[in-house]
Amino acid sequence: SVAPIALDESGGPGKVAALISIEDITATEEAEAMRRDFVANVSHELRTPLTALIGFVETLRGAAKDDPVARDRFLTIMAREAGRMNRLVGDLLSLSRVEAEERRRPTAQVDLANVLRGAIQTLQPVAETAKVQIKREGEPGPLRVTGDADQLTQVFSNLIENAVKYGGAGGEVRVVVEKIAHEPVQRGPAYRVDVIDSGEGIDPIHIPRLTERFYRVDTHRSREQGGTGLGLAIVKHIVARHRGRLKIESEKGKGSRFSVILPAA
Ligand code: ADP
Repeated sequence: SVAPIALDESGGPGKVAALISIEDITATEEAEAMRRDFVANVSHELRTPLTALIGFVETLRGAAKDDPVARDRFLTIMAREAGRMNRLVGDLLSLSRVEAEERRRPTAQVDLANVLRGAIQTLQPVAETAKVQIKREGEPGPLRVTGDADQLTQVFSNLIENAVKYGGAGGEVRVVVEKIAHEPVQRGPAYRVDVIDSGEGIDPIHIPRLTERFYRVDTHRSREQGGTGLGLAIVKHIVARHRGRLKIESEKGKGSRFSVILPAA
């Protein structure tokens, strides 16, 4: 640990008190700066589709008024932009709900095998369109954990969807469950769920920042795929609420592995 800096000439307890208050101010300022950044990011993310919508409404009222072909094309784009705003607001609501609940531990008995089945089923159409096969491997279940089934479903839907979207080039996404008899960090039995793709991989410099809100490796690409940049931030908070851990390993050009370790009930 770092030795306290002498802030008070007199030394003694005054020194410690001064140090604590300065740390408090720094923490408050940091939290305030983060909040400002977040509000600025949200505003920007909402304004982009909104500006497009306003522009197309103007065009529909003017130049494209008597052109059914143009009108159809613009309405398609407008629907896409409105869908983007809808997803963003949905993810923001999920994030704030999860954050508000983070200190309250979930209490329901959940079978993780059912959760995985549900998440895979939901993503089947996305996978089919992308020509990706989702394979479930390892421990079949039941896999008992204490948790919130809807939130855990969201965790694995987000991870599997990302694997299909960004790692789908490999044609296959694997969802592998392993039982760990004694997990050293959690000091007890646990399940480890790996979502593995053999796609493009992620440069190691990005990995520590991936779970930050709105952090994307390639913003254009993410937007194109309909991403909000909030998926992994939501995953991180839900996993934390479940006293679990998220591990990200990746190699550029080889693929990625997102692992969720959850205490077994
Ligand atoms: P998004 O809505 O952009 O997908 P996420 O928070 O889910 O937001 O992911 C953040 C970023 O992490 C993505 O934009 C992408 O650049 C990167 N990413 C996530 N999963 C993978 C993956 N399996 N392979 C490669 N990159 C990924």
